[in-house]
Amino acid sequence: MDLTRRDFLKGTGTGAGLAAAGAIPLPAEAYTPQLKTQGTREVPSICYYCAVGCGIKASVADGKVVAIQGDPEHPINRGALCSKAQAYIQVLDNPRRLQKALYRAPGATAWEEKPLDWAMDEIAKRVKATRDATFKESEDGVRVNRAEAIAALGSAIIANEECYLLVKLMRGLGVVWLEHQARI
Ligand code: SF4
Repeated sequence: MDLTRRDFLKGTGTGAGLAAAGAIPLPAEAYTPQLKTQGTREVPSICYYCAVGCGIKASVADGKVVAIQGDPEHPINRGALCSKAQAYIQVLDNPRRLQKALYRAPGATAWEEKPLDWAMDEIAKRVKATRDATFKESEDGVRVNRAEAIAALGSAIIANEECYLLVKLMRGLGVVWLEHQARI
């Protein structure tokens, strides 16, 4: 069939008129909803779920993250994200997310909310007291310099650089019991 430019314009004009009158459905693209990232501010960040440290772009509107995508310019993941990071937003905007340090005293059955500074000071005090009381300088005449009463458990949500610093600190203290949650 030969179709002139005029025939084509007449046909599409009729189609648009019928669509406007509700007689025929509009083309699919007419229903495309507004993207939820439209008008948002893009904030670069790092996925905290594991030590791979993939780059993400968080779309923020009114102080709230509304969407998360892989950062195509990040050298580690180049825009890709695994399923854990795809679900990241559920953790960010979750009423059950812990916002304060919780402390359960020895022998207590209930947790108490404590300021983070208090928790940090308490950890430092207890690490020092435990190390001072139990540090072993030698064994069988051999110098060992071990803090055997302290153990460190690494977290899968700390990045490579944080893992490096943690191990440096622990080795400096003489801690030999170093583990990672992924191996337990
Ligand atoms: S959890 Fe997935 S997206 Fe997040 S850093 Fe690890 S591999 Fe990357």
